[in-house]
Amino acid sequence: MPRTKLIVGNWKMFTSAASGKTLATAIATGVTNDRVRVAVCPPFPYLAQIGEVLRGSRVALGAQNMYPVTEGAFTGEISPAMLLDVGCKYVITGHSERRHGLGETDEFINQKVCAAIEAGLHVILCVGETLEEREEQRAKDVLRHQLALGLDGFDPINIAQLTIAYEPVWAIGTGKTATPALAQEAHAYVRHRFTKAFGLDAADHLVIQYGGSVKPENVAELLHQPDVDGALVGGASLKADLFLGIIRSAA
Ligand code: PEP
Repeated sequence: MPRTKLIVGNWKMFTSAASGKTLATAIATGVTNDRVRVAVCPPFPYLAQIGEVLRGSRVALGAQNMYPVTEGAFTGEISPAMLLDVGCKYVITGHSERRHGLGETDEFINQKVCAAIEAGLHVILCVGETLEEREEQRAKDVLRHQLALGLDGFDPINIAQLTIAYEPVWAIGTGKTATPALAQEAHAYVRHRFTKAFGLDAADHLVIQYGGSVKPENVAELLHQPDVDGALVGGASLKADLFLGIIRSAA
């Protein structure tokens, strides 16, 4: 079935209030049709301001992280309700920089997936193998494990609130993009595992993004693959012309 492509910019810990507003304005102005769904995920302190810039545009607001509890004594954390309150529609979970850099476990990521969906957010669950795991022929085992644990308790009735991002760790921020064939093989495997767990209908609706050094030059061929339904973009989402080039290719 045709799935509407989803392009999401992950700004990570970049931009300032001023540069973020300039970037968001340029992106909002440049997205002029609904052929592709688009969102940007600015740093927490700028969410409300960027949300104001995006108001009335075709670009949605997303967050890069959240804590899986509604409210409480959790110093420094941000709840799903707070994200909704400032206008977020999307939230990223399981990003490799949090898995590998900050020690987040599959169980903790699963709590976030469940809490985000319950609150009404659209969750982007990132999965992907390291270079070592790929070289040891363990890429599929890693994907199977991350999907099984990350989606524990997921109810396919909520399929419209879930996106999986396949992000091979060796391709993130390195300039080394997966070949379209490699991406397709991994995406087909993700959809296969999802089918086994949640049925054909949900798997058919599941949007699977590719992430890892996506640029305007390589995105068209990646998105041409039957199971690649969008892109999660880091570096290239910080430059309006590059990000809009990616969106144009997707459309
Ligand atoms: C990411 O951070 O999810 C990512 C894919 O980054 P980059 O596009 O810079 O590789």
